[in-house]
Amino acid sequence: MKKLIVITGASSGFGKEMALHFSAAGHPLLLLARRTAPMLALNLPNTLVKEVDVTDYKAFEAAIHEAESIYGKVDLLVNNAGLMLLGNIWTQDPAEWQTMLNVNVQGVLNGSKIVLADMMARNEGSIINVSSIAGKKTFGNHAAYSATKYGVHALTETIREEVSATNVRVMLVAPGAAETELLQHTTDNDIKEGYNEWKETMGGISLDPKHVANSVKFMYDLPQEVSIRELVIAATKQG
Ligand code: NDP
Repeated sequence: MKKLIVITGASSGFGKEMALHFSAAGHPLLLLARRTAPMLALNLPNTLVKEVDVTDYKAFEAAIHEAESIYGKVDLLVNNAGLMLLGNIWTQDPAEWQTMLNVNVQGVLNGSKIVLADMMARNEGSIINVSSIAGKKTFGNHAAYSATKYGVHALTETIREEVSATNVRVMLVAPGAAETELLQHTTDNDIKEGYNEWKETMGGISLDPKHVANSVKFMYDLPQEVSIRELVIAATKQG
């Protein structure tokens, strides 16, 4: 059997597509999110589904250990779970900043800590963090979200350098705007409307999540000694 892959935020969007792609390639999976029903509905073979909030270190760790006891060591962790709560900082509820920091940054740190020491001891394994183009350039209404995604870039590159001598890969994918549930959680309706108007510049449709899943699989499928440190993927019409 192929090696175990853990995907966070697999209940929708990119994570769900990644689950389909990696399962089709024969990998056993551990799928994590707060909603289990959409993950169970995928009905994938050799797949453990767990209700885990990535900000809960102990629950995250317990789920990984349980999956490893069934399928063997984790070979890839995709830290994909994330939230985008757009807003202007002078009007936005600070609780929204904290939520994004907890999920988008702390969640990635949690997952990385849980798998890294063991991967380093084995001299193999990979982590792919899902950041964003908003982790490379700024957009209006994105201050707090962008801060978390710039953070993901920073922590990924730092850890990559730190562990590179062990042959463990720490990589990052930075997608552009895509068709997922991500925007739905933004509470400011004017901003949501503005985002959809901006998407008109892309013909009203942005990136299909399946292309992100394909890219992540491509990064993973390269030999262990080759790392795509950062892959940026967006709709061609995204400016
Ligand atoms: P979705 O909203 O469709 O998916 C987000 C996933 O994250 C869901 O499965 C959700 O599951 C999960 N999630 C959210 N909070 C938590 C939590 N606390 N613990 C565990 N899981 C959680 O959005 P996308 O697929 O678009 O987002 C995936 C990643 O891609 C995010 O990191 C996002 O920032 C990034 N991204 C998205 C872009 C886009 O335009 N769509 C562009 C660039 C980057 P549940 O609610 O069940 O917990």
